[in-house]
Amino acid sequence: MSGLRLGVDLDGVVADFNAGWITRYNRDFGADLHPSMVTTWNSPTVLTHFEDMDSFWAWARQGSSSVFRDLPVYPDAVDTLRTLAATHRVVVVSSKHEWAISDTLAWLGEQRVPTSEVHFVWDKPSVACDVYLEDAPHNLQALASRRAESVVCRMVQPWNAPVGGVRDVASWQEFATLVEALARQTGTPARQGQAAQPAGPGPADAPVPER
Ligand SMILES: [Mg+2]
Repeated sequence: MSGLRLGVDLDGVVADFNAGWITRYNRDFGADLHPSMVTTWNSPTVLTHFEDMDSFWAWARQGSSSVFRDLPVYPDAVDTLRTLAATHRVVVVSSKHEWAISDTLAWLGEQRVPTSEVHFVWDKPSVACDVYLEDAPHNLQALASRRAESVVCRMVQPWNAPVGGVRDVASWQEFATLVEALARQTGTPARQGQAAQPAGPGPADAPVPER
């Protein structure tokens, strides 16, 4: 079995960001939102009283820890990553505001996410991986166009849509099955620790909030 570099997004893939912020929002404002109500990107501007994402983030970071400190994990996510990490290299590729990084690192440790590489970047294609798992529409587009040599997977969520050249993955089990099939097909030598050059220059850093 070959070792592949698996570029794994966090929010919307491993961490249930919507369940996390909605729990806090209901508590703070007496609302009755449910994660199933999230069907669009930047949903807080649709579902809450916050008129823009800046206002939302200002609330989400306040207190002794931010919303990113205690997000629940999606079922099967960490267990599947543990299984994959026995053979492959799990590379966390996450976009985060600076204020969220320490909470995210604490969360990764607490959840025992089996990664030995963590990248906080806005420009995700700048991190070379063989396979990517991502939910954000803009990141899927960027990865598909600039990492054409890689397999880009969309974690199917209500807030994203099919992207040309991107494989749809509906569950963690489906992702694990795909990775093992790819490893068998490619026979790629173990790449642990290697980092290929980016496919091309990235756009200027654009702080699109991670989700
Ligand atoms: Mg995400």
